[in-house]
Amino acid sequence: MTEENRYDLVVIGSGPGGYVACVRAAQLGLRVACVERYARLGGVCLNVGCIPSKALLDSSEHYATARHRLAEHGVRVDAVELDLAAMMARKDRVVGELTENVRKLLERHKVQILAGTARMAGPGKVRVESADAPPVELQARAVILATGSEPVQVPSMPFDGRFIVSSTQALGFERVPERLGIVGGGYIGLELGSVWNRVGSQVTVIEMLPRVASLLDAQVSRTLERLLRRQGFQFLLESRVEEAVVEGDAVRVCIKTPNGEEERGFDRLLVAVGRRPLTRGLGLEALGVETDPKSGHIRVDVRYQTTVPGVYAIGDLVAGPMLAHKASAEAIACVEGIAGLESEVNYDAVPSIIYTWPEVASVGKTEEELKELQVPYCIGTYPFAGAGRARCMGETDGFVKVLSHAGSGRVLGVHIIGPRASDMIAEAVLAVECGATAQDLGRIMHGHPTFSEALQEAARVATACAIYGR
Ligand code: FAD
Repeated sequence: MTEENRYDLVVIGSGPGGYVACVRAAQLGLRVACVERYARLGGVCLNVGCIPSKALLDSSEHYATARHRLAEHGVRVDAVELDLAAMMARKDRVVGELTENVRKLLERHKVQILAGTARMAGPGKVRVESADAPPVELQARAVILATGSEPVQVPSMPFDGRFIVSSTQALGFERVPERLGIVGGGYIGLELGSVWNRVGSQVTVIEMLPRVASLLDAQVSRTLERLLRRQGFQFLLESRVEEAVVEGDAVRVCIKTPNGEEERGFDRLLVAVGRRPLTRGLGLEALGVETDPKSGHIRVDVRYQTTVPGVYAIGDLVAGPMLAHKASAEAIACVEGIAGLESEVNYDAVPSIIYTWPEVASVGKTEEELKELQVPYCIGTYPFAGAGRARCMGETDGFVKVLSHAGSGRVLGVHIIGPRASDMIAEAVLAVECGATAQDLGRIMHGHPTFSEALQEAARVATACAIYGR
């Protein structure tokens, strides 16, 4: 083993878990290597997840606005046309720029980037194989596994990459599918459904549960469903796809609905029923790294150490919401722990966002969870229709809901459906993280007129409920 292949830390994977871990470790003075099997860095998030989906959501929103919303502002545009190829090219450009930025960031921090597929070859040993170079063995005091996740494949609707597809292909259709079926009403299905619905697809979402985005507060989820239906979405709830078969240029889908069996034809079928940790081929079993047999997650302790000392795991590989910012927060806590610092992640303060329009963002407990936990709570809701800025922009759909403890007034959960909810939620995350009360949120000054005044007003309603019992 040459000196040049010895590292303090080797990170496998360059997603928001992996690259953030590398940068933090370098900042703390560790000698770091990052192994990535794909030519482009940044993981699922930058290449086929968060970023391309948001680029398409923003572009398709502009198109929908130009077609349907500008006239109300007194702006007339004739003959709005869709140039899908240009929309896709812009998305690819955004992805290219950001992945290149990750490379520059790692280089600036003197992180050694190794192209190839890595697997554990023993305690502290990582073997890297690639098509165009001989295998390399790296030695490290610590190894962080950050290989992320992959879409769940359902045997009765196997991906063929063309007609029955995962989110990756649904980010790059060459033509607008006339009829797009989506199996799974989670955030990925609803976001990609929004993109294609806005540019002209008839979107049908088939969801097994009685609600879409079922982890949301029920009031928010029902409102989201209603607003998406108004935009043209069709929902088949409490319905299960029994089988999907490609016939000619279409997909025939058999669906079990509450009203009996139904058959539907789609031009494309997106299967978005969840993702699984990607542990295949990492050599974990031989090393003794334990995984949960049901979920496939790698078992870790509070410091993200697996059942093998010196081997850590973060991000989509471990339990918790599969979100980029959760992966990055774990990366920082894990690396700081390796460097001997005190660091942890507060899982009560993880924001989750759905980038439909209106957007949905939440943090903390839902009303249903508080009921189940028998926590006494107060509710404050406030509609965007009552916010001056929302009126000016013509974005009055939705509301803010603040849930606070009935005794202490502490903010336990905030749920927003409305314009720019994704940015507004940061204030609520801070409130939950710092143990602020609804009264605190109601008292601090908010700029006027802003969307965030709706959050302030909802907090005031929750405060009144705590003080006056209403
Ligand atoms: P990943 O980002 O998956 O990175 C893992 C990396 O490891 C990959 O680059 C992979 O090539 C590499 N790798 C795997 N195996 C090996 C190996 N053996 N050797 C070398 N390299 C390997 N999250 C949000 O927070 N906000 C969003 O808006 C959002 N939108 C999404 C939209 C879509 C369509 C999808 C699919 C996901 C979205 N996510 C979003 C989820 C987010 O992308 C993931 O939670 C996040 O990427 C997980 O980060 P990670 O670092 O754990 O893994």
